[in-house]
Amino acid sequence: MSVHAGAPPPLVSEPSDYQYATGAQLGKGGFAICHRAELLDQSRPTGRIVALKIVKSKMEPPKLAQKFVTELQIHSKLHHPNIVEFYRAFSFQACTYVVLEICDNGSLADMIRKRKYCTMPEIRRFIIQTCGAVKYLHHRNIVHRDLKTGNLFLDKDMNIKVGDFGLAAVLLSQNDMGARRTTMCGTPNYLAPEILEKGGKGHNEKVDLWAIGIIAYTLAVGKAPFHAAKREDIYKKLQTCDYTWPELSKTPNDISNDLKDLVGSLLVHEDDRPVPDQIVSHAFFKTAFVPLQLGSECANRAPRWS
Ligand code: ADP
Repeated sequence: MSVHAGAPPPLVSEPSDYQYATGAQLGKGGFAICHRAELLDQSRPTGRIVALKIVKSKMEPPKLAQKFVTELQIHSKLHHPNIVEFYRAFSFQACTYVVLEICDNGSLADMIRKRKYCTMPEIRRFIIQTCGAVKYLHHRNIVHRDLKTGNLFLDKDMNIKVGDFGLAAVLLSQNDMGARRTTMCGTPNYLAPEILEKGGKGHNEKVDLWAIGIIAYTLAVGKAPFHAAKREDIYKKLQTCDYTWPELSKTPNDISNDLKDLVGSLLVHEDDRPVPDQIVSHAFFKTAFVPLQLGSECANRAPRWS
């Protein structure tokens, strides 16, 4: 069975007594397709809804297979309220299945597509929750390396759930978060400048902090700060930190100076970027409110604060 053609089997069986009744497609990625599914226990419905990620067993090229193994090895050990919970993985017929916590409200990228931008209170909440997850990862010497709006999912209560650990890496030295990886990876708009540096110097956990800056800008403006038709032009812009904020008259969003200052503090040389605890101590989070709850209608339209 190819995951990119046709529907999954209506019933997927684990080697144990568990089965999954597959439902609607949630989304499609580079090498996986994701469906809503209900867990059955000895054929009886349990009411437990999960996301079932279906991955082709024979992935080509081998690099993709490695991405999946890395994802399983790292993701399966993580437990944090703002990280998509990994329940289990198993093989059935010609596919590998990964059972994940369901994120009913899509990703922040979906939200931006529908809404164009997020309000300042929403951004405060999303960035605080993302920082919580990133602090947890960095504390365990894990670098996500592909943080972007498309990998920040939202559960039914609009809580951030960091997902897609396919590019994540464990830094080798326990005490040295300065340990460096040399692979060039990530999404062009989100690449930190040090990843482009010549000489195989590599990069470390600071790339995730840069990405938080790009995410905060993107949520406020609706598009990434460094954008261009050609990849090389994006690289040039991010290496010289060439970005601007839209003029007041050209954006419907009320973008605060504190947010601009926060983004400016993150899009700097790696040595000068604040760590997650320092990010959430910024004035942006202190001088105005952070919503304790958000309704799922926010996934489709801007909330009104009263
Ligand atoms: P890939 O690793 O192939 O890029 P993803 O992990 O990004 O695959 O998943 C593909 C799509 O499936 C996502 O873009 C999203 O729409 C959906 N998806 C993935 N995980 C979940 C989840 N836990 N809950 C809801 N939808 C999900």
